[in-house]
Amino acid sequence: GVAIRVENLTKFYGGPTGTKALEDVDIAIEDCEFISIIGPSGCGKSTLLRILAGLHGFDTGSAAMFDEGVDAPRDDVGVVFQTANLLPWLTVDKNLTLALEIRRGKAAAEAADVGAMVEMLNLKGFEDKYPHELSGGMKHRVAIGQALMQNPRVLLMDEPFGALDALTRDRLNIELLRLWQRDRKTVVLITHSISEAVLLSDRVLVLSERPGRLIADLKIDLPRPRD
Ligand code: ADP
Ligand code: ADP
Repeated sequence: GVAIRVENLTKFYGGPTGTKALEDVDIAIEDCEFISIIGPSGCGKSTLLRILAGLHGFDTGSAAMFDEGVDAPRDDVGVVFQTANLLPWLTVDKNLTLALEIRRGKAAAEAADVGAMVEMLNLKGFEDKYPHELSGGMKHRVAIGQALMQNPRVLLMDEPFGALDALTRDRLNIELLRLWQRDRKTVVLITHSISEAVLLSDRVLVLSERPGRLIADLKIDLPRPRD
């Protein structure tokens, strides 16, 4: 089935006399598809992601997830931003269960299998460390873990590794791919790197310069590491 459907989506910042960030965008994303979105700086990639995350309104058109209009953040959607926003006064395991605790209460947070998540993220031994004791790559892994902790059906990622060095980034991308292979989800990844998009995704969507219009929708038909 279709996980995400965006139709004729137009978004202005500051109303119709302001900045037009997206224009007439149409996208359909299948359940469990891995999609990348690329395009020049300022073309509206983050805007689109934030609309899908329920964090921004829009002006015309529609945005739906599993056939429900998107108008607020959803429990079954995990979001990862460019900077890993960990709380500095909480340890790795507390950072991982934070969103669960906020949304579903202390009992839900305590019942969660943090150990399994820590293992999957390759962070064994770091459960009790604070963010300042982690490398950049580790912080980003924790941020992805935060988004995955609620076992979302959809994972939205806005250049999650953009701030990292190329080597760490390649490593995390491979881990991301493994994770996706293990536990298929619908993934929307914003990236600046075409090679990353091609390596990871089933489809690459290209937005034009502002206002962002969908100018290409490319099916990637290559044997990839996961195949
Ligand atoms: P991208 O993620 O592709 O770099 P963005 O979605 O961040 O693009 O921004 C799209 C356009 O909207 C840009 O021209 C940007 O300057 C503008 N924009 C983004 N956020 C805001 C905001 N909060 N207020 C006004 N303009 C914004
Ligand atoms: P603008 O076009 O001026 O940016 P938006 O409607 O996009 O106005 O949103 C402004 C801010 O309000 C967003 O950054 C977001 O934090 C919040 N917001 C907008 N829509 C929602 C929503 N449906 N649910 C929760 N917060 C929202």
